[in-house]
Amino acid sequence: MNPPIFTALGGTLGIDFVNTVQHHRGQVVDLLDGPDAVSRWLAFMNHTGRLHTATWCALRPGPWSIERLIEFRRDIRWFLDAKADRQTFLNSLAGAVAEVPLGFRALHEEDHMTLVAIPSMPGSLGLRSLLAFDWLNLMVSGAVNGVTSCANNSCMAYFLDRRGRRKWCSMDTCGNRQKNARHYARQSGLA
Ligand SMILES: [Zn+2]
Repeated sequence: MNPPIFTALGGTLGIDFVNTVQHHRGQVVDLLDGPDAVSRWLAFMNHTGRLHTATWCALRPGPWSIERLIEFRRDIRWFLDAKADRQTFLNSLAGAVAEVPLGFRALHEEDHMTLVAIPSMPGSLGLRSLLAFDWLNLMVSGAVNGVTSCANNSCMAYFLDRRGRRKWCSMDTCGNRQKNARHYARQSGLA
């Protein structure tokens, strides 16, 4: 089994953030284990197109308080695991955005314009505000109802399943493992 790596299978920046903690060989592995890791994650998100370069540049100077980010990620997971009620979660999201308001810029891309959120502070507080805004959008649009946990019980991944058909975070990992297990069971007469 390969060691955990950053993924972009969630569907939005906020969901990919939730997936920065993963299960590996029975252990919970936190991929955001220091300021350098947060910088690497942001670079990865920019590389995958999830984080606009203008937003990335606004965040980059830091400082990075890992504790605040880990706490925020835990709050999101509590909500997804139904351990926190909707209103409490909405209040904490709104509070994070109120603490560090976002500005917006309309930027020209190759053939279209795109609206880009720019946090008014860099570092972890700016990032938390950006992530909270993403989750507010998921909540208000109702898309949050499609945020699904991977069908592999030992996988901690969440993803946006817009059509209600996706079971696995990735066919390369969890989906494939399940397919192989079924194949093995058939071969050995267990199914
Ligand atoms: Zn999975």
